[in-house]
Amino acid sequence: MESYDYDLIVIGAGSGGVRAGRIAASHGAKVAVIEKDRPGGTCVIRGCVPKKLLVYGSSFAHELTDAKGFGWQISGVQHDWSSLISAKDIEIDRLEGIYRNLLKNSGVNLISGAAKLAGPHEILVNDKTISAKRILIAVGGMPTILDIPGMAENAITSNEALDLNELPETIVIHGGGYIALEFAGIFAALGSKTHLIYRSNFPLRGFDENVREHIAECLVDRGVILHPQTSITKVEAESGKQTIWLNTQETIIADQILSATGRKPNTHSLGLDEVGIKTGPVGQIIVSEDAQTSVPSIYAIGDVTDRVNLTPVAIGEGHAFADSFYGDNPRVMSYDMIASAVFSQPPIACVGISELDAIQQGKKIKIYESRFRAMKNTISGRQEKSYMKLVVDAETDKVLGAHMVGPDCAEIMQGIAIAMKMGATKSDFDATVGIHPTAAEEFVTMRSPSR
Ligand code: NDP
Repeated sequence: MESYDYDLIVIGAGSGGVRAGRIAASHGAKVAVIEKDRPGGTCVIRGCVPKKLLVYGSSFAHELTDAKGFGWQISGVQHDWSSLISAKDIEIDRLEGIYRNLLKNSGVNLISGAAKLAGPHEILVNDKTISAKRILIAVGGMPTILDIPGMAENAITSNEALDLNELPETIVIHGGGYIALEFAGIFAALGSKTHLIYRSNFPLRGFDENVREHIAECLVDRGVILHPQTSITKVEAESGKQTIWLNTQETIIADQILSATGRKPNTHSLGLDEVGIKTGPVGQIIVSEDAQTSVPSIYAIGDVTDRVNLTPVAIGEGHAFADSFYGDNPRVMSYDMIASAVFSQPPIACVGISELDAIQQGKKIKIYESRFRAMKNTISGRQEKSYMKLVVDAETDKVLGAHMVGPDCAEIMQGIAIAMKMGATKSDFDATVGIHPTAAEEFVTMRSPSR
């Protein structure tokens, strides 16, 4: 029998890697996790968590506006960007500490350094080779920057946007996906003149078409300047300002340009080719259902595999991996009915398929929709409407998709996802008594299909 330094070495101490490492250790495995940056990874250090804190911080602006209609007399209110950033940094430091402790308390050896694969069982880190029976790659992804003149030199990405020294007076955000919309919400709420530039007719390609249209209207109402079907041809910097050239012949002068045109697997320095790990067109590691790469002793989970790029999915994949190989409980991650949310302002949440997906899958469907002004918006005077949609299989009555744009939709959608994962039908929704008065009750009171 060959002997190795560890049963398992995980590369990457993000959400997926940490979960895999500590569950494997709890099952009795000898585990090391290697991390070149801060434990916590994209989600905790430079993604979901700091972003959500800035979403919370900025959304008070809308609350303050709405409060006036309810009798609050508010004057002289100011926001201090640097206080928000410092508070956010303190919280991220705290969470990093928790991640370190989680690993320590489960007996995992955290190694600080950049890992490079040196063989099917070997890793080079800090000029030393260490070995393991199995290696798990969980290094996540990184922002891409498009090959547009001046973009790479002048644009920031979501990484830097979370740590700016000053709130930009004007910001241009390139892209119409998750990150673009979330940062548009943050900067616009805090008072930056915010331009969103994207190539499609509506933001969020892949989301339900009505949701896309609806969020575009809401973004305009919340002060975001939309530039649909537009591309950037050049970025030039002079005296601390950026000039952004558009294909429409317009130019925008901004303090910052944020590139939010997607992310790519973080595989460039791992030495994948040298050990023969197969990758796909965007550099993603190709894995089997149980996370195995083309090298049998090496596995991969999370964004580096570019399947469903969401933190809870990476965590689920890491947990399934650890249970399968160290817990005597072989299982694979279920990708069915994964709910997700975009923390734009207002937010968007969905689970299941869109109306268009259902049509393209040849399903006979019924669509139930509701567009309504939330009760809070009556007295506040805010004209914004919420939107809800259920996509229902006309033959089986099963709810195939649930979609919402509106306050609290992410919190609402989690419960809907449980019902849909259990195979809920529209009749089950109808038989559920609503909680009154809430927005959520609309999901159980939509009686007549709109088509
Ligand atoms: P997305 O894939 O969501 O969006 C990328 C955007 O960039 C799209 O609008 C896309 O346009 C545009 N784009 C891509 N290539 C080009 C190009 N060549 N020219 C012009 N525009 C282009 O990526 P994000 O970076 O926003 O986020 C990455 C992933 O991270 C998400 O998909 C999601 O999985 C995850 N994430 C999840 C969050 C959450 O759960 N709340 C938050 C943030 C990130 P088009 O649509 O036309 O292709």
